[in-house]
Amino acid sequence: MTRIGFIGLGNMGGPMAANLARAGHAVQVFDLVPESLDRAIKAGCIVAGDAREAVTGCDLAISMLPAGEHVRALWLSEGCGQDLLGALPAGALVIDCSTIDVASARAVGAAAKARGIRFLDAPVSGGVAGAAAGTLTFIVGGESADFEAAKPVLACMGQNLFHAGALGAGQIAKMCNNMLLAIHMAGTAEALALGVKEGLDPGVLSTIMGKSSGNNWSLERYNPWPGVMENSPASRNYEGGFMTRLMVKDLGLAMALAEHAHSAVPMGALARNLFNLHASQGQESKDFSSILALYLGKAQGEK
Ligand code: NAD
Repeated sequence: MTRIGFIGLGNMGGPMAANLARAGHAVQVFDLVPESLDRAIKAGCIVAGDAREAVTGCDLAISMLPAGEHVRALWLSEGCGQDLLGALPAGALVIDCSTIDVASARAVGAAAKARGIRFLDAPVSGGVAGAAAGTLTFIVGGESADFEAAKPVLACMGQNLFHAGALGAGQIAKMCNNMLLAIHMAGTAEALALGVKEGLDPGVLSTIMGKSSGNNWSLERYNPWPGVMENSPASRNYEGGFMTRLMVKDLGLAMALAEHAHSAVPMGALARNLFNLHASQGQESKDFSSILALYLGKAQGEK
């Protein structure tokens, strides 16, 4: 049993912390949203009054926050005034699972190292369903020995654990993945909209493409058409998944990475524009698969 501090109990962090508690760990949690704390108590977690209290006495601390600015504010005390790294014992391990810019991950890692604390950037893939089922993919950057030390705890939340390379490498791999995800989600919505406008049933078309060369994760595991897949966000009015605003953030991170690498990303840039346009039409809190609405020419929920 490990005493684990867990900060950020949103769509992903909530079920991840619940899985750690289910595995028998003592999980001390904190989030800014009171409803998240209520859910965490029901899942067997110990609720702390603030982030510092949550990590106090922990050899391992995990954060799952929206973006780099939140992770810096938390771990570098930017704007919040809490010396969180100072609350951890020397040699403790911090694992940030948020998807953030490489510079922020490296800055927090360097600050941790200066205090004798180990740090891994460990963004995840697999969505809310993967977080709930404990089948996430962890894409980890940092020292090999720290990755090995983190494995038993990561295995309580995920099935596939990858060491991508040095500090920041987890974020680079995650950005490549999410740029590709945005492209195939937009493409899947585009193909489904075309077929349905020509009279096909979305479920029949999905089955056909799923057994043909157009198959992909968005079609098969996260179908954007309402009702085609019982458990996809599309079938619950695009609630409780991966918000469009987070996809726009990730595509922005991918574009910055491309500029740094002098690498052309025309498909990624187009996808970023599509998701940005969609977000600007009042859809930023909906799951990103609601991009289908752009192709149908109406906001989701409209008849
Ligand atoms: P979310 O917005 O649902 O959750 C973020 C949580 O962080 C919120 O509950 C918020 O209250 C909390 N928070 C923010 N600042 C805080 C602070 N200072 N102290 C305590 N709590 C704080 O987002 P999410 O969907 O859970 O995503 C989290 C991260 O995981 C993002 O970086 C996202 O890009 C990434 N991600 C999400 C998915 C997905 O399917 N939702 C999949 C893979 C990766």
